[in-house]
Amino acid sequence: MRYTRRSTEEARAWQEDVRARLRTLLKIDDLVQTKEKISLEPRLLSSAERGNCRIEELEIHSTPGRHIRIVVTSPVAGEEGPRPAVVCIGGHGSNLYSPYDETTVPRDSAKVKADRIYRGFGTALTVRGYVTISTTVSQHEVREKDRSLMGERLWDLIRCLDYLESLPNVDASRIGCAGLSLGGEMAMWLGAMDERIAATVSSGFLTTMDHMEQGHCMCWKFEGLRELVDYADV
Ligand SMILES: [Zn+2]
Repeated sequence: MRYTRRSTEEARAWQEDVRARLRTLLKIDDLVQTKEKISLEPRLLSSAERGNCRIEELEIHSTPGRHIRIVVTSPVAGEEGPRPAVVCIGGHGSNLYSPYDETTVPRDSAKVKADRIYRGFGTALTVRGYVTISTTVSQHEVREKDRSLMGERLWDLIRCLDYLESLPNVDASRIGCAGLSLGGEMAMWLGAMDERIAATVSSGFLTTMDHMEQGHCMCWKFEGLRELVDYADV
């Protein structure tokens, strides 16, 4: 399914075809089909104001049987909105708060910390007027039966988009995603697979699969992927 030059119409048809095949390989096809029936049921765990940010930690349903932790930040000052929003994604070893700097991360969160390699880009976006959302994709175990690691990581990010869309202060036509390393990889996947993403920043990732075969954590790979596309096509 390598992408080659073609007409706009043919390119759109190609996109739809590749997305459908990838959804099947990622083992999320059934979730995409039944998404409207999976309610988010958000549960607020904590809320605080630090610097110019309001920061909330919540739990939402990712699938009917599995929930995920998320962090949502929004600017305290300025206009009410609706505001643009960004899904902020960390890499290997990251946690919910990795994309934010020390001015945002609650001091009482003993288990979490800001991670300097991300240069607090989530905080920087919030200060500039964006709503941001973060979840964890750094796990290496598959959590539900008949799923795949990359599928579960991607699905959790798709659910972050669902949550952003449900917020009255978010402009759903202006949602982007950004990440570094594994986070850059997941930003690429999210931008490719979910058309609600208007802009993607994939940092420290874009490469070839041949390169990823050498000396890299192999969590990027899933059955059938290499036979179908390379990253340039994604
Ligand atoms: Zn890995």
